[in-house]
Amino acid sequence: MAESIRFDLPTSKAPTSWLNINPDLPGPMLPPLHPGTQEPVTPEFMSVLSPMALLGQDMSMDEQIEIPDPVREIYKLWRPTPLLRATRLEKELGTPAHIYYKYEGVSPVGSHKANTAVAQAFYAKEEGVRAFTTETGAGQWGSALSMACAMFDIACEVYMVRVSYDQKPFRRYVMESYGASVYASPSPHTDAGRGVLAENPDHPGSLGIAISEGINAAVASNGAKKYSLGSFLPHVCLHQTVIGQEAMAQMEMAGEYPDIVIGCAGGGSNFAGVAFPFVREKLRAGKNTRIVAVEPAACPTLTKGEYTWDAADGVGMAPIVMMYTLGHTFVPAGIHAGGLRYHGMSPQVSGLVKHGVVEAQAYDQVDTFEAGVQFGRCEGILPAPESNHAVKAAIVEAQKCKESGEAKVILFNLSGHGNFDMMAYSQYLNGELPRYEYPDAAIAEAMTHVPDVEFGA
Ligand SMILES: *Cc1c(COP(=O)(O)O)cnc(C)c1O
Repeated sequence: MAESIRFDLPTSKAPTSWLNINPDLPGPMLPPLHPGTQEPVTPEFMSVLSPMALLGQDMSMDEQIEIPDPVREIYKLWRPTPLLRATRLEKELGTPAHIYYKYEGVSPVGSHKANTAVAQAFYAKEEGVRAFTTETGAGQWGSALSMACAMFDIACEVYMVRVSYDQKPFRRYVMESYGASVYASPSPHTDAGRGVLAENPDHPGSLGIAISEGINAAVASNGAKKYSLGSFLPHVCLHQTVIGQEAMAQMEMAGEYPDIVIGCAGGGSNFAGVAFPFVREKLRAGKNTRIVAVEPAACPTLTKGEYTWDAADGVGMAPIVMMYTLGHTFVPAGIHAGGLRYHGMSPQVSGLVKHGVVEAQAYDQVDTFEAGVQFGRCEGILPAPESNHAVKAAIVEAQKCKESGEAKVILFNLSGHGNFDMMAYSQYLNGELPRYEYPDAAIAEAMTHVPDVEFGA
C-alpha cells in the first residue's frame, strides 16, 4: 500500500488550550519599558492600547491558557489544518529525508494570522471595545483582523503603507469587503500622519509610520478604540501555538517525531506557533530537536542583529523591549516578503535564540523563490514569499541528508499561500528579482540609535 501523505486531525481532537511558553523561557523575563521614563510600563499605560485579557496573557506564567468556546467555534471553519508529507518533493530531491509541512494557507484569508485575529477580536468584544486600529504592510494582517472584526461586529481601522495601498490593491479590497476602513499611511486622520504629510505630501509611507498612526488613533479615542498588533507580542505567539500542538498530534498519527522543526520569522509568530510545543518537549523531555527560524538576508535580525534593548516601533512611541534588533531606524529594502521586513523580533523567540535553544538562518529572496517554485511544481501550492524562506531551509536540510544518507524527519510550517503575490513570482520568473543582502555598515549605523537603557544594568 502506498504511504499516507495527508494527516487530518478530527475536530474532536483539536487543542482546547494555547501553550504558554513563558514558564519555560531560559533567563529572567524582562518587562517592557516605557519609551519616555525607561521604567517598566504600567498597566494604565498599556491598557490604553490593548484589551486587559491580552495584557494578562503577555505576563501569564500558566502552562496552558484555555481557548474560549466562541474562538474554538470559529477555528472550526478551517482548523485543524492539514499536515502533509511532501513525498513528490522528496523524490525530486532524491533525499532519504521525510519532509512534512503544516499548511496554514487554508484559513479564509490564506495565512496563519487569522489564528490570533479571531482571539484578539473576541477579547476586545468582551471588554466593550468598539473598534480596533492597526497597521498593515502588504495587507495580510489587515485582512485577517478585518475578517475577525466582521465576525465579532466591531469596527476595524487599518493604516496601510501608501506604496502597498497604491500598488497592491487586492488585499485592500479584501479588507474593504469585510467592512474595514483602510487609509493610505501617512494619512490626514492622525496627528502622526498629518505631521509626516506636512513635511512631505508625497511620502510613500513605512510600517513604522503606519504603526504610529494605529497607536495614535487608539490613544486619541478615549478608550473607544484599541490598537491591535499581528505579530511579535507574547499573546500573539501564544494564540499561534494551535499550529504546533496540532502538528505534534499529526506527526504522531504519521508515526514520526521531527528531528528538525522550521518556520520563517518576521515578528516571530508563525515560527513560535509551530515551534513552541517542540521547544517545551526539547527543554522538559530532553528531546534533541533542532529548531530553526529562517529570515531574509535583506532583514537579518537574528543572524546579524544585536540582543539589546530597543524600541518596538519605528518612531519610539511603543515600549522598549529586550530583543534581537537591527535598530529601530532600520530602513528595509523593498523585498517581496513584506511580512518579514521588521527591525525587531519577538522577545520570547529572541531569548530562545540567545540561549541556544533555537538556531537562526538567513537566505536571499532569489533563492527562496527558487525553492518556492520547485515546491509548487511538486506539491501544487505556491507559497507566500514569507513561507518560501521556510521551504528553502527545509530543502537545504533535505539535500544535506542526501549527502549524508540520513533519513531525518523535517517539519516546516507553510504559513500561507502566495495567490495574492503573483507580481513577485512574475518578477522571479522574468529574472527581475534582485539579490539583496543588508549591508553590515547600515546595521552598524542603525545600532548607534538604539536607546541607552540603564534598567537592570
Ligand atoms: C505576516 C506573515 C509572516 C511573518 O510574520 P510572523 O509573525 O513572523 O509569522 C509569515 N508568513 C506569512 C504568510 C505572513 O502573512
